[in-house]
Amino acid sequence: MKKTFDSIVIGAGSGGLNIAGFMVKAGFSVLLVDKSDAHIGGDCLNFGCVPSKALIHVAKTVHAAKSAHQFGIDAQGKADMQKVVAYIKSKKDFIRTHENKAYFESIGMTVVLGHATFTSSHSIQVDGTEYYGKRIVLATGSRPRTYTVKGIEHVHVLTNETIFEIEHLPEKLLIVGGGPISIEIGQAFAYLGSKVAIVVKDKRILPREDESIALVLQKRMEQEGVQFYFESVIEEIQSKTQAYIKTQNGNVTHEFDQFFVAIGRELNSEGLDLEKAGIRQHDKKNIIVNKYLETTQKSVLLCGDIVGQHQFTHAAELHAAVIIRNFFVPNWLPFLKKKLNTDHLAWVTYTNPEIATFGLSKAEIEKRSIVHTVIEQNFDEDDRAIVEEGTYGKAKIFVSHDGYLLGGSMVAPNAGELIQEFILAETNKIPVSAFFAKIYPYPTASRVNKRIISNIYKEKLTPLVKKVMKILY
Ligand SMILES: Cc1cc2nc3c(=O)[nH]c(=O)nc-3n(C[C@H](O)[C@H](O)[C@H](O)COP(=O)(O)OP(=O)(O)OC[C@H]3O[C@@H](n4cnc5c(N)ncnc54)[C@H](O)[C@@H]3O)c2cc1C
Repeated sequence: MKKTFDSIVIGAGSGGLNIAGFMVKAGFSVLLVDKSDAHIGGDCLNFGCVPSKALIHVAKTVHAAKSAHQFGIDAQGKADMQKVVAYIKSKKDFIRTHENKAYFESIGMTVVLGHATFTSSHSIQVDGTEYYGKRIVLATGSRPRTYTVKGIEHVHVLTNETIFEIEHLPEKLLIVGGGPISIEIGQAFAYLGSKVAIVVKDKRILPREDESIALVLQKRMEQEGVQFYFESVIEEIQSKTQAYIKTQNGNVTHEFDQFFVAIGRELNSEGLDLEKAGIRQHDKKNIIVNKYLETTQKSVLLCGDIVGQHQFTHAAELHAAVIIRNFFVPNWLPFLKKKLNTDHLAWVTYTNPEIATFGLSKAEIEKRSIVHTVIEQNFDEDDRAIVEEGTYGKAKIFVSHDGYLLGGSMVAPNAGELIQEFILAETNKIPVSAFFAKIYPYPTASRVNKRIISNIYKEKLTPLVKKVMKILY
């Protein structure tokens, strides 16, 4: 008998689960497919956000204890990796209680485990059984890009799929890559007690972030003992414990006992028999997708990392929102369809301090010829930052000539939380003057936001304005 569903979702990660969850709640029949029960939850639960943020929580706790010696607490030593791994696992297991096959079946989905491939633009097959769907959402995510270098066979390469399960704390961890995954993991292991070195091909970390903001974190990590090899590449892995690195200052042999690589992501777009569905690709990896997230077959849509743009859980959620909304727009009213708009996207690198970025970048603002002011503010005079050792914090924001936030970045403890009201104002076009209509309890950390915005008004106190004020006074 033909097994037919309103929606088929391939991939039970951040993107797929959002769509499947909404559709089943709205009363539609949903088939959810993932490779195994253990894969449900996708990268975020299994190998990404959840384990990395649990690791970072432990690492920050250990670091805080070790940093308390000036107050008479003498905490030393290295973390017990088996206990750290057990903590990470316990948090994943907790979330897994509502992210598993039995749970999703209990709320009305049909869940099939196995590798899905297309048989047409309206059908897939899993383990020889064919399933038909009015719409099919492809949310198969991404995986770590493979690293190749001479001598790689000498080492066991750790990636985000294996590092959260290692049994022993590395003595000397060598990392390749200068992006957020490397930097978060590198700092966490340094806090736990590893000697960390990071090989970066660029001249700085976090190339997608504003340079002056990223530099604040980079300097702090260096002060904390993380070694960076900038503008460098590994020429050869000479043995299980030695890498030959070509640096700007000549070649060095670096000793390590564990090797972690995070050099970018590959899209999980192969092995799906896309051609049987008539889904066309730009190249071997990238699937052609329009602003409504439709592939060249309108019945098949892309959601999450597989789109090949912003690879975040909340970007997958944004995709899901666009897709779901358009499910309910009839084809004869195409102008009502929602387009994907990433202008208001924000993201956070969960290091200590965090880096939080929102809205448009400076380059994008200039590309669109938007008249704007750049405001930079250090946190050195902020009372809360002073009492909590956060005076190294810094923000850089872009404001339009008529007083609206366009985008910006912040590096500070909890920057991801501090920046929330900037995101709210930018997304909802709330004028910056609103920051002054609000009373900030003293000394909340977010009072710094008002200080940042007040820079605009400083410039408005021109000699003429001052003269008028004097007369009025
Ligand atoms: C170390 C790390 C830390 C991260 N931290 C953050 C963070 O703090 N915040 C944030 O927003 N993002 C973070 N991310 C990114 C985030 O995890 C991803 O953007 C998000 O998981 C993407 O969701 P997705 O639905 O596209 O794919 P996934 O969540 O990866 O789900 C894809 C699913 O598809 C399944 N699948 C693949 N092929 C098939 C097939 N043929 N048949 C059946 N099933 C298939 C897979 O098994 C998988 O379960 C992090 C990523 C990493 C690696």
